[in-house]
Amino acid sequence: MKILVLNSGSSSLKFQLFDMTCHKVLYSGLIEQVRDHQQAIKTMVEKLSGQGHIRQLADLDAIGHRVVHGGECFKQPTLINQQTIEAIEQLIPLAPLHNPANLLGIKMARQYAPDIPQVAVFDTSFHAGLPDYACIYGLPYELYNKHHIRRYGFHGTSHHYVSKKAARFLQDYHNLEHPRLISLHLGNGASAAAIDNGQSIDTSMGMTPLEGLLMGSRSGDLDPAILFYLARETGADIQTLDDLLNKQSGLKGICAQNDMRLIIKQAEQGDKLSKLAIKIFCYRIKKYIGAYTAALNGADAIIFTGGIGENSAVIREQVCKNMNSLGIKLDKHKNQQASDNILELQSQTSKVKILVIKTNEELEIATQTYTAIRDPQ
Ligand code: AMP
Repeated sequence: MKILVLNSGSSSLKFQLFDMTCHKVLYSGLIEQVRDHQQAIKTMVEKLSGQGHIRQLADLDAIGHRVVHGGECFKQPTLINQQTIEAIEQLIPLAPLHNPANLLGIKMARQYAPDIPQVAVFDTSFHAGLPDYACIYGLPYELYNKHHIRRYGFHGTSHHYVSKKAARFLQDYHNLEHPRLISLHLGNGASAAAIDNGQSIDTSMGMTPLEGLLMGSRSGDLDPAILFYLARETGADIQTLDDLLNKQSGLKGICAQNDMRLIIKQAEQGDKLSKLAIKIFCYRIKKYIGAYTAALNGADAIIFTGGIGENSAVIREQVCKNMNSLGIKLDKHKNQQASDNILELQSQTSKVKILVIKTNEELEIATQTYTAIRDPQ
């Protein structure tokens, strides 16, 4: 059972081929500086056939496509047909950068392999069941009805994957069922999710991935009136403000660097703004842990994942520091460990488990694709 996972971006095509009988990656590739998606798909097929995995796309059993925004239509992975494509097209205004690129990948793959099942797996669908009080903004309600303005949340595939792993681990090793989890996906993009018994009940990203935690170059939460103020004071137009908040802010805005490894290095060498950026990054996460502990009426475990969450002991330590009143106590020695398996970092007296779980969004997309073609709804 060969399933190809495609992540078609505006300028890159990421792909991974899985053998789902043994959950093994057969090939993993990235084509960068993509201008022509048709050419990129051709190059990908050449790479896969060069390695002897397939002769043509039609030899695959299925293709799973990452799609960023599923709006309110897509609450689960969905078999792709013309109707699905049209529905994803209608969601373009909600994700003008991502959905068109995802659609290009879908259309090209269908052109080359019209007869194999293809499945769209959405970044938003894990959060589709958020309660109304967590996803409706304090705006006139008609904006929700007319313009679909609400919290959708993102990184759903990652939060879903690590939360399932955490739940299995907590059941097997701690006899804990129906866990209340706080999942922290900390990468270049960053988000937190509160997960109660397998369901996402709140998440920090909003209608777009801009809300919530401080990120590589995105501001995360801020007072919306800052935008009106800037527009009035500087004459900045919408595109300039969009660019400012999405591309020039966050860690990069504060210390001119968005790569956390380098920021930590600069901070160790005494750079004040790098130190400040790290403090803001960790403080924001701490606040969300507090908020989600309240939302969940107590947390059983915190999960660190994403490039920073999985690899940075420094950040994990700062986030968990002075959190003992919430029952969160990190063991500094355990925090230095590294492993591809699940790591448990809490001290013996910590009420809350602290887990590090490597995310694997591609495997989750392949698994969901497999399930969708096996048990079509
Ligand atoms: P991702 O978007 O999940 O690939 O994560 C990328 C981020 O993870 C970048 O900011 C990297 O600098 C950061 N990262 C990766 N390894 C480490 C590490 N060992 N320490 C700190 N940050 C890291």
